[in-house]
This record gives sequence, structure tokens and C-alpha cells, in this order.
Amino acid sequence: VVASMAHLQEEKLRLQEELLGLQEKLAARENEELSRSLQLQSQVEALKAKLLEQAQEISRLRSQLGGTEAEKHRAQLAAENERLRQEMKTCEGELLELRRQQQQQQQQALCQDCAHLQENAELQERLCQLQQEAEEARGKLAELELEVQQKTNRLAEVELRLKDSLAERAEEEERLSRRLRDSQETIASLKSQPQQVKYIIKTVEVESAKVKQALCESQSRNQYLQEQVGMQRQVLKEMEQQLQSSQKTVAQLRAQIMMYEAELERAQGEMLEEMQAMEEEKNQAIEEAFSRAQVEMKAVHENLAGVRTNLLTLQPALRTLTHDYNSLKRQVRDFPLLLQEALRSARAEISQAIEEVHSTNRELLRKYRRELQLRKKCHNELVRLKGNIRVFGRVRPITREDGEGPEAASAVTFDADDDSVLHLLHRGKQVSFELDKVFPPQASQEEVFQEVQALVTSCIDGYNVCIFAYGQTGAGKTYTMEGTAANPGINQRALQLLFSEVRGKAADWDYAISVSAAEIYNESLRDLLGKEPQEKLEIKLCPDGSGQLYVPGLTEFRVQSVEDINKVFEFGHLNRATECTNLNEHSSRSHALLIVTVRGLDRSTGLRTTGKLNLVDLAGSERVGRSGAEGSRLREAQHINKSLSALGDVIYALRSRQGHVPFRNSKLTYLLQDSLSGDSKTLMMVQVSPAEKNSSETLCSLKFAERVRSVELGPGSRKAELASWPSQEHLEGDSPGTSAPSSRGHASPSPGQLSSRSASIRRKLQTSG
Ligand code: ADP
Ligand code: MG
Repeated sequence: VVASMAHLQEEKLRLQEELLGLQEKLAARENEELSRSLQLQSQVEALKAKLLEQAQEISRLRSQLGGTEAEKHRAQLAAENERLRQEMKTCEGELLELRRQQQQQQQQALCQDCAHLQENAELQERLCQLQQEAEEARGKLAELELEVQQKTNRLAEVELRLKDSLAERAEEEERLSRRLRDSQETIASLKSQPQQVKYIIKTVEVESAKVKQALCESQSRNQYLQEQVGMQRQVLKEMEQQLQSSQKTVAQLRAQIMMYEAELERAQGEMLEEMQAMEEEKNQAIEEAFSRAQVEMKAVHENLAGVRTNLLTLQPALRTLTHDYNSLKRQVRDFPLLLQEALRSARAEISQAIEEVHSTNRELLRKYRRELQLRKKCHNELVRLKGNIRVFGRVRPITREDGEGPEAASAVTFDADDDSVLHLLHRGKQVSFELDKVFPPQASQEEVFQEVQALVTSCIDGYNVCIFAYGQTGAGKTYTMEGTAANPGINQRALQLLFSEVRGKAADWDYAISVSAAEIYNESLRDLLGKEPQEKLEIKLCPDGSGQLYVPGLTEFRVQSVEDINKVFEFGHLNRATECTNLNEHSSRSHALLIVTVRGLDRSTGLRTTGKLNLVDLAGSERVGRSGAEGSRLREAQHINKSLSALGDVIYALRSRQGHVPFRNSKLTYLLQDSLSGDSKTLMMVQVSPAEKNSSETLCSLKFAERVRSVELGPGSRKAELASWPSQEHLEGDSPGTSAPSSRGHASPSPGQLSSRSASIRRKLQTSG
């Protein structure tokens, strides 16, 4: 800080010196300029004064030239003189007048003596006075004349002087004009000079501003530095004070040190003494330890001798240990060989045991298969005993659409003890029907499916199954087959059951489940899962000569889960819906088929099975067209009528074991030929409405149901039924027993045909054990 301060001080001094130099220069220049300008001013002033003087002189001379005072005076005097002469003349005239008046008065006085004497005296006094005055005026006049004389002399004198002064003035004038000219020249020359001066002054002014600013800055800086210096001085003072105090402490400390040193010396002395004492002690202790060590050493030597003797005794033990170790080593070396030996024998034992297990397993499997076969046969037999063709009835509940009042009252009643009987009140008469099973309105989808389950599972065993929903529109066919999303019907439940059954058999069997969906409308078949649903499909015989039927182009989807089938249903619905304007109406006039094919492969035997489950939602069985339906509606009705009649015919023919079954009479029966004939199982679910207003349709449906079912009843009745199997048209008869001859004209089977059929039944029973 001091160095920087000194440096700053130096700089400050340098700047101050510079500043002083500049100020001096400036002052010198200013003085110079000032003196020069003063000189010039004084010159100018002197010249101006001279000029003024000369001008005054000139004006004075000019006034002198214009007429002197003496002349004026003389003229005045002359004028006065004249005036006085005139006055005198007037006075003389008055005097003469007075004299003449006196003479006249004397003449008169002579006359008037006494009166004019006083007046005369007064006049004479006045005359004297006037004469005195005249005398004075004469004196005055003489004086004035003298004065005039004097003045005239002086005038001459003055004129002379004037002449002289005129000459002088001319001379002077000339000189002054000369001088004036000179001075004007000088002024002109001087006038050119001030510009230079001004420039110099200006530059000086500009420089001086800068210099002043610098000065200001340096002054402020100087002030700041001075403050700093003041501060530093303060600090210095403080430090000095500190130094003084520390000097004081140093002095104190020194005194202490001295004291300590003295103490230290004393302590050293003491220590030396102590050390000496300790040395002595140490020597003593060493001596003692040495003697003790000698004693100990002796003891150790003795111990060592003992250990040596011990060691000699341990050697033989070590030898035996080494021996043992070597023998163990040998054993370890031999162990793998032993192990292999043991393993070999164990393996042999195990394989023998496995073989035994295998053989028992095979035996068990054989037995299991036999049992399975037996179960299948039993199941089959059970189904057969129940009848390959079974007819169920289902009564839907009264719905809001049925309306209210007597029209909507239930016309159907049930038998509490017999679930296969149902009574219908039709036109005041109660008609009873007996079916394989009747589901009342409160029967759930689950309950219905329970009864259908056995049929569905037989599909896995390779049987073909058909489930039909028959009934008038609105009787619940679709509800039973498809159901609702929350409460699905047979279709979805059947597939679900198939999935779970297949899963249960997955250990031995490979199963593939696929579905097709088709629709028969006006006797033409459409693929509901195809890319072109409007395309009409044909049913053809397999070219392999097996006599099997197939539909070329019918789409088949492999399904593995409920989601898959839901997608398939959705897709089918979509296709069905896009093809018509009113799905409900359309669906009631067409047959909807869901065909599920279950293909199985027994992995152990290589046995293949194929079962088909046909789920058919039939067209509405209501009698249309009787009351003059026309055009497409009539055609539809005819087609429906024809196909439902054909179905009835086929079922009739099958149940009655006819040799000829008229499958070809409709597309539906033709398509389902495989699934209706042979060991196939058929379920007809006849749907009816309980509403009073639907009672005639309900009657028709129940008649159809009972007739289908009663085919296999007692031989007498069968015969009777066989003879009177009506067409769909004849089912339409309002009252029971009004059956007309078949319009289709089936040939009634002859008794011979019947006997041959019963023989075939017998054969079948024998083969099924
Ligand atoms: P269909 O297919 O024979 O024309 P639907 O299945 O469409 O008749 O049934 C007609 C109406 O009756 C539908 O609203 C349906 O939900 C209802 N329905 C039918 N059967 C039942 C039932 N068992 N329980 C409840 N509602 C039913
Ligand atoms: Mg329907």
C-alpha cells in the first residue's frame, strides 16, 4: 500500500507539475495576449483621442471662421451709437420745441404774469435737467466712440492672428490627415492580427477545458488518495500503538523467560541428580535380571530335554498315521470303480422296475381304454335308450310384448308331478301333450343346457348331433339357441363345454374344433362367415365315393376359446344383418345353422374321430300365406313350409326306421343328412308361447312335437301315426284330429318294410352289445 501510495504521490506530483507548467504557459500566453491587446487598445485610444482633439480644433476653427465676438460686439456698438444719435436728435427737437413754448409763455406771461411765472420756472428746471442728461449722453457717446475705436483696433489685431492661425491650421490639418492615414493603415494591419489571436485563444480554451477536466479528476483522485493516506495514517498509528503494546509484552515476556531460565537451570540440576540415582537403580536391576535369566535358562534347558524325549516317543505314532493315510488314499482311488459298479447294478434294478411299471401302465391303459369304450357304449346306450330323436318343449314366459288383459293370460299349465306333460287351454278345451321333457317359463338357460349336455359331449366321441329350435316367431327359438350376452344359450354353452371336455382329454387326444355358420333362405344356402355372403352355395357329394356330403366354399373357422366363438357369432350376425333390411323379420323367415366340427386324434392309437354338432334356429313355423299373402311373402312362406315339412318327414322316416329317408326334399335336410342318419342324435326343442292369443300356433307346434315324438311309441300307435304323418300344412289344422291326407303324398311303409326295419334295429342292438 505504501509503495502504491508513493507511486500515486509521485504521479500526483508529476501531474501537478505538468498542470502548473500548463497553467504558467497559459498565463504567459494570456498576459502576452493581454499586453498586446492593451497596447493595441491604448494605441487605438490615443489615436481616437487625437482624432477627437483634431475634430474639436477643426470645429473651433470653423466657428472662428464663421465670425468673431469682437465683430459682433462692434456691430452692437454701432447699432447703439446709431440709436443714441437718434435719441439726441429727438432731444434737440424737444428742446427747440420747449424754447419756442417758453417764448410763447413769456409773451403770455406778460399777459398773465403771475400765473405763468411758476410754470415757467418748472419748465426751466426741466430744461436744465434735460441739458444735464444730454451732457451725460454726450459723455457716454464719447466713451462708446472710444470703445469702438479700441475694438476696431483689436479686431484688426484678431484678423491678423486669424490669418496666422488659418495658415497654422492648414498646416496642422495636413499633418493630421497624414497621421490619420497612418493610423488607419496601422488599424487595418492590426485588424488582421486579432484572428490569429482568437484562434490561439480558442485552442487555449479547448485545451484548458481538457486540462481542467484532468485537473478535476486528478484533484478528486488526489482527494481520494489523501483520504486513503489519512486512513493509512490512522492504521499506522494503531499499529504503532500495537507495536508499543507488543513491545511492552515482549519486555514482560523477556522478564518471564529470564525467570523460566532460572527455573530451568534449577530443574536441570535436579534432573541430573535424579538421573544419576536412576542409573544406579538400573545397574542394580540389570544385575538382578541377569541372575534371574540364568536361573530361567537353566529351567528351559531342562524342559527342552523333556520335549526331546517326548518327540522320540511321538515318532512311531506318526508312522502309523502315515500308513493309515496311504491306505485311505488307495481306497479313494478305487472308489470310482466301486461306484460305477454300484451304479450299474442300481441302473439295472431301476430299469427293471421301470419296465415293470411300464407293463402295469400299459395294462392299466388297456383297461382304461376298454373302460372308456365301455363308457362310450354305455353313454351311447343311454342316449339310445332315451331315443336318438328326442323332443323337448319349452314355454317362454309372458313378456311385455304380449300385452295385458285376457289376451295375454297364460294358456299353458304344467303337471307338478310329471315334467314331460303340458296342458294347453285352447278355445275353452284343455288339450294335454306328452313330450320327452317340458321346460316351464321359469326354467333357466342353465337347466335347459343340463339336458342337452349329454348330446353335446357325444359329439366328442365322434357322433353327429342336431339340435333344432322349432316354433312360431317370438316363441323363444333364438333365445334358447343364442341367448343373450348375459345369459347365453345352447350355442355358446355347447362350445364352452366342448372346450372344457377337450381340455380334459388333452393328455391322450388332440382335438380341433372348427365352426361354420350358414343360412337357408328360400331354399338357397349362404355362407355367413364367407367373404361373399350373398353367394349361393351348393351341397355336393364327396368325390372320394364315401357317399359323404360337403359344401364347397363353406368357410370353416378353427376356434380355441370363448372369445373366438364370440367373434365368429358376431361376424355371422354382421353378415346376416348386412344382407337384409329387417334382421328380425329376415331371421324369422330363414334357418340359421351353426355347424361345429370336432376332429379328434388319439395319440396312442392313432384313431381319428369326427363329430358334428349342428345347432339350427329354424324359421318361424307360424302359418302365413293362408290369408292371401302374395309375391315374395308367399314364396317365403311356401319355402318355409316346405322345409319344415321335409324336416318333419325326415325325422318321421328316421324314427320309423324307414328304408328311404326323403333327405333331398329340402336344402336343410339334405345338408344335415349325415347328422340326421345313422348313429346321429337329434333333439327337437319345440318353443311355444304361453299367451292366450298364440294358443292356436302353440297348439300347432305342440302337435308337431308330439307327432315327431310319438313315432316310436307303442306299435299300434306308431302304426297309426305312421299312417297319418301329416305335412306341415296339415299341422296347421286348428283343432286336433283334423288331419288331412298328406299333400306331399309319402308312400306309407308296407308291413314288410317295417319288419325289415325292426330286424336292422335288432342287428344294431347286438353290435352295440
Ligand atoms: P324367436 O327367435 O322364436 O322369434 P325370440 O328368441 O326372439 O323368439 O324371443 C322373443 C322374445 O322373448 C325375446 O325378447 C326373448 O328375449 C324373449 N324370450 C324368449 N324366451 C325367453 C325365456 N325363456 N326367458 C325370458 N325371455 C324369453
Ligand atoms: Mg329368432
